[in-house]
Amino acid sequence: MGPREPGAAPEDWTAGNGDMDPESFRAAGHRIVDILADYLGSIEEFAVLPQLEPGSIAPQFTQAAPEEPESIEAILADYRALIEPNANHWSHPGFMAWFPSANAAPGVLGEFLTAGIGQNTFLWRTSPVGTELETVVVGWLREALGLPSTFDGFLTDTASTSSLIALGAAREAAGLEAASRGLAARADVASPRVYASVEAHSSIDKAAMTLGIGRANVVHIPVDESFRMRADALMAAIEHDRSAGHRPIAIVATLGTTNTTAIDPVSAIADIAEREGLWLHVDAAYGGTAALVPTLRPLLAGWERAQSIVVNPHKWMSVPFDASLLLTTRMEALRAAFSHVPEYLRSLDQTGPVRDVSEYTPQLGRRFRALKLWVMLRAFGLAGMRRRIAWHVEMARELAARIDADPDWVVVAPAPFSTVCVRWYPAVLGAPRLVDDPVVAERLDAANQAIMEAVNRTGEVLLSHTRLDGRFTIRLALGHIRGEQRHVDLAWELLRAAAADQTIDFDQP
Ligand code: PLP
Repeated sequence: MGPREPGAAPEDWTAGNGDMDPESFRAAGHRIVDILADYLGSIEEFAVLPQLEPGSIAPQFTQAAPEEPESIEAILADYRALIEPNANHWSHPGFMAWFPSANAAPGVLGEFLTAGIGQNTFLWRTSPVGTELETVVVGWLREALGLPSTFDGFLTDTASTSSLIALGAAREAAGLEAASRGLAARADVASPRVYASVEAHSSIDKAAMTLGIGRANVVHIPVDESFRMRADALMAAIEHDRSAGHRPIAIVATLGTTNTTAIDPVSAIADIAEREGLWLHVDAAYGGTAALVPTLRPLLAGWERAQSIVVNPHKWMSVPFDASLLLTTRMEALRAAFSHVPEYLRSLDQTGPVRDVSEYTPQLGRRFRALKLWVMLRAFGLAGMRRRIAWHVEMARELAARIDADPDWVVVAPAPFSTVCVRWYPAVLGAPRLVDDPVVAERLDAANQAIMEAVNRTGEVLLSHTRLDGRFTIRLALGHIRGEQRHVDLAWELLRAAAADQTIDFDQP
């Protein structure tokens, strides 16, 4: 199909056997950019979280797949009517739940380009530019995070996958030959043990489940009063396991835990890992981004001694989901764990050394994630990224101080990054010893839950919760690329207003 005269009627591409023609694509593409610009421009008019009943959305869609072509206009009209109002608005600046995974606009443009250029980056041959730009962008990030050039790596979809790959490599590096021989019915293999704190993310357990290590062989080490792994307890667990005939293989230190953003003492843990000859994997999926800011980098000091590190650009860096950075000093161990190259994947025309990234990953096909990172990092500049991250931390620290100063509220964990964990604890209850009373504690839990739910019902802010020491805790995860001081102020105002509405009588038996 050749170029058309300007103003010529669009050809009916739907009647033929091929794809949409370029001019129809152009018109539809412009329309989509308009829709997204309007959406992002007016996002605060939406409730962050629409109030929806499970099962209420699917019936709104046509139940049978359309037999005949439909116009893009009709599809986009339905997008606006059915998708936008039913979506959780992760791009809303009031989104302070979990960890924000905001789509910075330049990253959205990068996603658009990624879909358009259509690369599959599993071999250098299948995408030379995809493979080599990934090397460039990974190098930029490594350097920007202040990590030495002994680290190499690549991008994956999620931290869960990055940790799975790292622990797969640790298993191989321990000499278990699991990649070739498997672990089933192996009388010669003692239980391989992985150590992580009780606060570590569930993806570590899932990696162990997937790798045949088994959840029972993830030893959860107790934490101190600040929710950091206790190095002495780690050492004791390793010694206990060795004397019980188990086979320690790896330690996972979390720098920025999911619950409270606690930072495990990675230097002390690295000492143990080195002494014991164990692989050290650092899960800095959220907290690692702080290392972009040189003044925050000391928070992560010691992580450069790890064999593998995961940082998720799709969390605090606001790169559109998905993008996880896996760095390692042991690329050859990853390759030993995951390389399997049949003839049809051999590139016959290669003259120089190349990297075929699928040799380091469980899956074959790979997205061209480096492109949106390249767009983002250029559009914001490292200085722009640093400024935003530093500002998020400043806002979080100021918020924590403000909440701590309120006699009816407690900040229940240190807030080193951009997430603050709080509980309503009315001053009338007096000393914290009353929390030991299970009846009062349960009423406080119920009140805190009610407060969070009331705030979330306003639609202006979305918070999430966890339990710390068994008690209901409200998390305010700042760090949203569109978040401003006024959103933080509003969240705190809404929390106080919801607390003022609490009518719980703590004296009632
Ligand atoms: N590690 C930590 C510390 C996390 O907080 C999370 C998610 O919040 C993950 C890993 C899992 O991230 P992903 O969804 O990219 O697998």
